[in-house]
Amino acid sequence: MPKSNSEKDFLEFLQEIDAYHELISLAHWDLRTKIPKKGVETRSEAIGVLSAKVHEMQTSDKMKHFIDELKHKTNDEVIQKAVEECELDYERNRKIPGAEYKEYVTLQGQAEAAWQEAREKENFQLFQPYLERLVEFNKKFANYWGYEDHIYDALLDQYEPGMTVKTLDKVFPALRDSLTELRQKVNSSKAHVDSSLVLGYFSKEQQRNFSIEVLKQMNYDFEAGRLDDTIHPFEITLNLQDVRITTRYDENDFRMAVFGIIHEGGHALYEQNINQKLARTPLATGTSMGIHESQSLFWENLIGRSNGFWQANYEKFKSFAPDFFNDLDTRQFYQAINEVKPTLIRIEADELTYALHIMVRYELEKALINGEIEVKDLPDLWNEKMVDYLGIEPANDAEGVLQDIHWSSGDFGYFPSYALGYMYAAQFYNTLNQQLEVDSIVQSGDLSPITNWLKENIHQYGKMKKPLELLQDITNESLNPAHLVNYLTEKYSRIYNF
Ligand code: ZN
Ligand code: ZN
Repeated sequence: MPKSNSEKDFLEFLQEIDAYHELISLAHWDLRTKIPKKGVETRSEAIGVLSAKVHEMQTSDKMKHFIDELKHKTNDEVIQKAVEECELDYERNRKIPGAEYKEYVTLQGQAEAAWQEAREKENFQLFQPYLERLVEFNKKFANYWGYEDHIYDALLDQYEPGMTVKTLDKVFPALRDSLTELRQKVNSSKAHVDSSLVLGYFSKEQQRNFSIEVLKQMNYDFEAGRLDDTIHPFEITLNLQDVRITTRYDENDFRMAVFGIIHEGGHALYEQNINQKLARTPLATGTSMGIHESQSLFWENLIGRSNGFWQANYEKFKSFAPDFFNDLDTRQFYQAINEVKPTLIRIEADELTYALHIMVRYELEKALINGEIEVKDLPDLWNEKMVDYLGIEPANDAEGVLQDIHWSSGDFGYFPSYALGYMYAAQFYNTLNQQLEVDSIVQSGDLSPITNWLKENIHQYGKMKKPLELLQDITNESLNPAHLVNYLTEKYSRIYNF
């Protein structure tokens, strides 16, 4: 059916917004990869100006006009979904009074600076008053936005649409108990698993060359992307034909760059494989933080840290790697890269204990927003939970409650996405195994049947399907933590002989 005039005008308006987004992203990419130090300040201001412009368009009367004119009145499925996305943004932004939002943005800047200082001085109290205000703001916003059961749901919904406390409280405790149990089994195992066997000088250039081979195996399209250096690795989409990844190298520990690149490559495949008919609309991105993370973790861990993958790739790896790897056979190498060792720092965690770090954060932030605990109680409660779930206790706040940036930028409701990403990944993996011979595909070194399966079932849809809808359509069940527990039990019982 030909498009009506208002449909055409709407798409044109979306493309205008998207053009700003593309250049904001390009400016961000440059800011985090190439910019000379003295250029940072003006650049940040330019990004601020352009972002304000986008915000203005998203909340304009013109946008409201399109929403009223097209919602439920268009026969075009893409336009209908795009209208719904625009309406969500419009409502969310409109419900917060302008003056309050301005105050909040200023507070975010101050809070981040206070957090950095508090972390350096290992003193939570320096950050406490800022965090108290951020929590109050978030409670207020949640009330403006509205919720059915639980105030925290309104915050969660920003990152994981449709997810609720009710669902999380059904699956997280079961996952937490199973992981704690697994951790204890690993702890009492006598198996000799030692990651230090793979540490040693490995040049940055050769790490990069090997990683590029892996990206090609994953079918990352280098004609629609590139790999650069940075300090905090990220994936960024300028448009669907320009999806970039970045990494950071440790020349004495190849795992940082190699697994980091596979991780960001997983995010990038998701974006590169979104259907072109969604291009330049708000639907041309991953459907949620959790589903996005499921794609990066799927590649990084379920494929990249699997036995089959290294059976296929260890010889190639050794052709890039320093000589000392000749003393390790595939089995020893595989075990070494899968050592389980509880750490105080979330981003250093292995795949078995990672979700336990998320439980600590989820339980605390939910209780904060709910008013069950106070900000001043956080450090003690944090340390107690670390002992309960991971069996280790931070010596100071810097390696405890102050380690993550999220709360200092007011991002409450974000953390669950990480644990959900693991659960989604394992649940997808279970279905994938029913439909394809995953082990033999991985061992063949040609991963395209897997990339194609992900594209067909997940990537192509962009934001056309909500996360839980996608999960149900693919796996025929709702969120089920048993898949992650089964995957981890099977893997680690072999590595640790229990
Ligand atoms: Zn990342
Ligand atoms: Zn990620």
